[in-house]
Parts: sequence; C-alpha cells; structure tokens
Amino acid sequence: MRSEAARAASLGALDAAISDCFACPRLVAWREEVAATKRAAFRDQHYWGRPVPGFGVADPEIAILGLAPAAHGGNRTGRIFTGDRSGDVLFAALHRAGLANQPTSVSADDGLALNHLRIFAAVRCAPPDNKPLPSERDNCAPWLHRELELIRPTLKVVVALGAFAWQAWWPAMTAVYGVRPPVPRPKFGHGAKVSQPGVPDLLGCFHVSQQNTFTGKLTPAMLDDVFTEAKRLARI
Ligand code: SF4
Repeated sequence: MRSEAARAASLGALDAAISDCFACPRLVAWREEVAATKRAAFRDQHYWGRPVPGFGVADPEIAILGLAPAAHGGNRTGRIFTGDRSGDVLFAALHRAGLANQPTSVSADDGLALNHLRIFAAVRCAPPDNKPLPSERDNCAPWLHRELELIRPTLKVVVALGAFAWQAWWPAMTAVYGVRPPVPRPKFGHGAKVSQPGVPDLLGCFHVSQQNTFTGKLTPAMLDDVFTEAKRLARI
C-alpha cells in the first residue's frame, strides 16, 4: 500500500488507487456492511461503500484535514463531507468564506466546486462509531502523505478538524516535509496555531460533528473566524 501511494504520479491516479484500497479488514467489512444495510431514509440509493478520496482543487493554498468519512455521508455519496449534517455546517461556512461555490453538499454530482481548497481525511474509510484504530490510522497515512506531497508546491495552511486530525499532522510533517514536529507537541484547541519554517501553518478547529454543532460548542461564527484566519495566512 505504501508503495502504491508512492507510485501515484497525480492526484487523479492517487484518487483511483485510494478508491481501490482494501488494507484494513475491519473497515472494509464495516463500509460494505453499512452500504448493504443502509439507513432507512436512503434505502433506495446506491451506497459508494468504498474509501473516499480527497476533493477540491489540485493546487490548493488551504487544506482541510478531517477524521474519516461518515457511514451515511461520504461512505454513501462517495465524496467527503457530502450528504450529512457535518457537511451542511462545513460547506455553509466555506461558502461564506468564498472557498466553495455553493453552501450545500448533497451528492457527488451536485455542482459543488471549491476555490483555493482541498479537503481530505486522515482515514479514508468510514469507521464504526467514527473511531479508527491506531493501526488503521497508520495503514492509511501513506495515502495522506502522498496527497500532501502532490499539493506541496501551493499548500500554505492546513486546518485540522478535531484532535485526531491534529495528531495525524505530526507524522505527515516529518514524512512529507522532513521537519521534526515541536516537542512537546502543541495541544489541539479551537483556534490553536502552529507556525514552523518550511511547513504549512497548522490551524486547529473543533470538528463539525453534530456533537459539537448541536451543542453550540462550535458555532458558525467560530468557523468563520478559522477560515478568515486560514485565508489571511494563505494570503488569499
Ligand atoms: S482506511 Fe485507508 S488504508 Fe484502510 S482500507 Fe481504507 S483507504 Fe485503505
């Protein structure tokens, strides 16, 4: 898998290779089971039921790094943060920030396009309870690292959605940029920022999960602040 990731010469080749990955038996079984049983509201739909590649432009200044696709969101529609409540909140904010051409993300053919931005997850398959195992995170890391290598020429800012993505950034920093992360590691927090020479700035943002958005832990204004800062750092 690591060598397949390294061989991908373009984002298109990488996306195709990711979509065909079967490296994590537990996640392969789960993504397929969810796709077969479906949620009642989507029982007439065909679920993607495979790994979900990155989405966005090929020369982004900003990247959003998430945790993993949602079982009935990305795992259903085949596009990250598409078809679930998390995506509703995220894309409304991206549209307000001028980073998306529309405020909704409902299906892979809905016309959504991003500006200056690419979105991907640390783990590309939907995990049970949204909790990947450390071994699954490590299995999937080469896909993330190769994607970062391919967008390295333009990338200036990474927005980590949640602590899992924040943690996934440190090995990526070493693998892709050859830079050792700070010791001790900076703590994740909403609005936390890490700037280090030779690597993109890292911004922390609470995850757009319903747990956070329904409880008011993460508000639209807080998301707006993060994307305003990301654009400032990226000089957009
Ligand atoms: S989580 Fe990543 S490494 Fe594991 S099967 Fe899915 S795409 Fe492959």
